[in-house]
Amino acid sequence: MNRLSALPRAGFALFVFATLGFSATKEVDLKRDVRMARAVLTGEVNRLYSYYGKDGEIYSDVTLRVTGSLKQSREIPDSIEFTTPGGEVGDVGVFFTGTPQFKLNEPVLVFLEEDSAGSPVATAKYELNEGFLPEVGMKPIELLLKIRENLDEIGEPVREQEWERASTFVNSKQPGTLKKSGGDEIVRNAGDASCYKLMGPKWRIPTVTYKLDPTLPASFLPAISTAVSSLNNAGVPLRLALNNFSANVVSFGPIAGQGILAQTRVSYQPSTQTIVAFTLVYNRSFSWSTTGEVAKFDVQGIGLHEFGHAVGLDHPPAASCDDQTMWFSAGPGETSKRSLEVGDLAGLAAMYGATPPPSAPPPSAPPPVTPSVPVGQAPPVPGFSGMAVSGQQITSSPITLALTGTSFLTNMLQVVVKGPGCPTTTGCIIDTRSLQGLTTTNATAVFVARGGGAFNVTLRNSAVGGESAGSFRFNVAVSQRR
Ligand SMILES: [Zn+2]
Repeated sequence: MNRLSALPRAGFALFVFATLGFSATKEVDLKRDVRMARAVLTGEVNRLYSYYGKDGEIYSDVTLRVTGSLKQSREIPDSIEFTTPGGEVGDVGVFFTGTPQFKLNEPVLVFLEEDSAGSPVATAKYELNEGFLPEVGMKPIELLLKIRENLDEIGEPVREQEWERASTFVNSKQPGTLKKSGGDEIVRNAGDASCYKLMGPKWRIPTVTYKLDPTLPASFLPAISTAVSSLNNAGVPLRLALNNFSANVVSFGPIAGQGILAQTRVSYQPSTQTIVAFTLVYNRSFSWSTTGEVAKFDVQGIGLHEFGHAVGLDHPPAASCDDQTMWFSAGPGETSKRSLEVGDLAGLAAMYGATPPPSAPPPSAPPPVTPSVPVGQAPPVPGFSGMAVSGQQITSSPITLALTGTSFLTNMLQVVVKGPGCPTTTGCIIDTRSLQGLTTTNATAVFVARGGGAFNVTLRNSAVGGESAGSFRFNVAVSQRR
């Protein structure tokens, strides 16, 4: 198996990529990325290994099975390994917003550069199973063509055979339901309540505290406070509160990498999909404004976007969502991110449950004596009618569970497995994002058993409570060592 073996194995890639880039320089950025890239490859993630680096941060070694090489000066490898910050070790997970984060079996297009030690670092990643790539405003195959164009311009044309391999791979990973209608537009939802994407983990305490670091300019503080108020008034029973003893810190400092305005690091517990801490950094190498000055970036709007990450929102994946606060980019002078939009609000409600809107009392009714306690609206309980398990006698992991039932919520079904190796109270939770073929009546979950014995499976349509009445069991036999 060929690798980029001439390169030393990556130890600690401290390079982090744009969380919020300028929308105005997108085209230039792609050209820059193409020019600077050591390699531009298509492939599938076939191994993911996460560990603690010497600096105490979690890193992941990603092995990519290469299915096409658009730019590669030396021998084209069958597979390549590189390191990214973030990942999961045991029951600790770390997520850097905007930094390429990889999932097992994911088909991707990656740009690799070298860090100061000469190790490959992923500087950009595009998910090839998406019908549209909001970061560049085009479909994956269009991105491929654009890269080819840019490589021609710099006199490094793509090899024809590799072009064939890469484009065949990209086309084979495209969702079949997206069709062209009329012009070049893909059919998709207009900027509506579907304009959100969740990271997966979320907070499971009612009040999340944060501390303001002394590095922050005094002029930032009211703007940050207003951004926090927007989240506190988003109609969900989650509150952010200033507390000088909080471990969650908002600061003003340097961020390595190109075009990064601000970055949020979120740490979470994978087994319960619970966010446990965050840090938010404004990049001091940019000019900031609290009054919407042209050519400067808005402290409040970008703060609100980053706090959105801190509570579990990701960037919405459709081009028509570019008016949402969680849209991945912001331009100088832009203040439209100061308010949460319909998709942002829907994302928060999907995670934390909407508080019913306050209704005005009828004119004759006396004013209420005590304010009513906001209660999250309970999602329906999923019906669980059947489960097929891979294999007759299960002796090896992972185990595929084919689930059938009713009322599965496609944005929030969770599979709870209790048994050996899973936390006693919560069980092992297989979250929505990990489920395959999720419909209102079907889902496939892949469970990795950490021990042998009897396991019990239930379903949930929310992160807490409301478990299905039905449950199914399966047994895992411990295999004999030979
Ligand atoms: Zn972001």
